Parts: sequence; C-alpha cells; structure tokens
Amino acid sequence: MDEIERTLEEFEHEIENADNLEAIKVIRVKYLGKKGKVTALMRHLKDLPKEEKPIFGQKVNKLKNSIEEILEKKHEEIIFKEKESKFEKERLDVTLPGARKTLGHRHLISRVLQEIEDVFLTLGYEIVEGPEIETEYYNFDALNTPEWHPARDLHDTFYISTKDGTLLRSHTSPVQVRTMKKSKPPIKIIAPGKVYRKDYDVTHLPMFHQVEGLVVGKGISVAHLKGTLDYFVRSIFGPGRKTRLVPSFFPFTEPSFEVYVSCGICGGKGCKSCGFTGWLEIMGAGMVDPNVFEEVGYDPEEWTGFAFGMGVERIAMLKYNVDDIRLFPRNDVRFLEQF
Ligand SMILES: [Zn+2]
Repeated sequence: MDEIERTLEEFEHEIENADNLEAIKVIRVKYLGKKGKVTALMRHLKDLPKEEKPIFGQKVNKLKNSIEEILEKKHEEIIFKEKESKFEKERLDVTLPGARKTLGHRHLISRVLQEIEDVFLTLGYEIVEGPEIETEYYNFDALNTPEWHPARDLHDTFYISTKDGTLLRSHTSPVQVRTMKKSKPPIKIIAPGKVYRKDYDVTHLPMFHQVEGLVVGKGISVAHLKGTLDYFVRSIFGPGRKTRLVPSFFPFTEPSFEVYVSCGICGGKGCKSCGFTGWLEIMGAGMVDPNVFEEVGYDPEEWTGFAFGMGVERIAMLKYNVDDIRLFPRNDVRFLEQF
C-alpha cells in the first residue's frame, strides 16, 4: 500500500516538471509500460494473501486510472501551450506600416552619357563601341603617337603586358581607327566607353568615361567642327553658352584645339569656378592628322575630317557644379539623390 502511495507521489512530482510531449511519453512508459512501475505493482498482486487482493487490486487500478487521466490532461495542456506560443511568435499586426522601398534611378554619369549620345544621334551620328583591352598599336601607333610621347609612359597607362603591348585603353580613339580600317568614308560616329589612366585626384579618376567623335568626308573643315561643337554646347549647357577654340597639340589631329565653354556661373565675367577667366575647358578636338588617314588607308588628298573627345565626368561636373570627380564612383546615396 505504501508502495502505491509512493508511486503516485513520485509520478506527480515528475509530471509537474514535464513541459514537453517527449517528456510525457517517457513518463508514460516509466509508469504504464510493460516494465513500468504500475505494471510491476499489478504483477505483485498474485503474491498477496487472498483477503488483501481485492483492496490492493482496486488501489492499483485507481492509481493506474489517475495516472492515465493526469497524463491525458497534461498532454492536452502542453499541446495548447505550444499552439499559444506559436501564435504569439507568428503574430501579425496588419496595422503596422509597410517596409518602404526606396526607388532607385540611373546614375548621373549614365544620364549625362545618354544626353551626350542623344545630341549626336539627332545629328545623324552612329554609336560605335570597341574593346577596353587594347594593343599599343591601336591605342598609340595608329594614332600617330610617337615612341617618346609621355602618354605611353608606364606612369600614365595601365599596361597588361609590356611584352606584347596589351593595355587598358587610355582613350576611346582606338575605336576610330578600328572603324576606319574596316569601312570606307564618309564616316560619322561617336565612340562612348570606359577608359583608364593612372590618375587619382579631385579632377581625375583611374577609370572614367569618354565620348569621342569622328567625322570623315569630302570638304570637312574647321567650320564644320566649330558648328558641331557650338550645337553640342548649347544642347548640353543651355542656349546662352558660347564656345571657344584655343590652339593646342594632340598627336592625332592637326590643327588641334582645346575647346572651352563660357562659364555658366559668372556668365563669362570671371569667378572662382572658372579661375577668373570666364571660360571652362570641356574637351579636345581637331582636324584628323593626314598620318592617321594614311595609316588606315584613306587618301588624305581626297578625305578630310575632324575628331573630338570629352570626359563624361567632366561634362557632368561642369553641368551640375560638382567639385570632386571622386564623388561619382563613391556612390554615396546622399550625393546621388540630388540628381
Ligand atoms: Zn566663372
């Protein structure tokens, strides 16, 4: 009889501490299983004197029933609790405001590049692209750049191999050579793309974008170049802006010019932005050097042409008054959001 009491107490203590279905299962086996405590008590029945058997039997049965009942109750309790906690964890407040997704837009450089391309497309130019990994031949030799020219220096150009002369193009001019070599004039193209130079400061990046233009035809003169640049400048910077050509030198053009636009901040009077000159340099240009024509197999007596090249980042800086070119690739959203 004491054993029955103790078994119940022990069971109650264990069930009290059980907090999951697995624990309940273990307890059930421990008490009601084939080798369980209650089962052992049942077996004990046959060893008792006849007169004690009914009372002992009743007590064990009662114990068995209460254990079953308690196990059942505890089982339900745990299932309920598990559901509760699951509901609590998966609770969804439909009144909460949704996660706001910011809307992106094209990078300023992509947009300015597109604008530049559009100006020339309306003038009937064709867009041509070429490889960013070039050879010394296309990047320098075919463009009349002498062996001693400083642009060829390892300090200025990224060579991939000095043995076979592969390099990252330092301008998009090789595209002009490639185009002339495989097609006959007249030609009217722009070549936009990435170019690489060993430079890094407020006005230079090791990788930037260029748009170069080339027109080859009969009777093409500096007047055509000037007219084209005037149109380009007014389209990009506004109708009131003036253009000025200043003599310069590039190996692949003769004569060569630096192209200036009147300062948009002071209107040409002179201010800090334009270095008190009233003018801002925007690109290089010139008439195609006859040596370049000879290299690609065009007769310089028959054909003339002009070429120009500009940095897209530089145009964007001037158009939007950005004073540090490094802001463009840094991609700080606070900067990009302003455009
Ligand atoms: Zn100015």
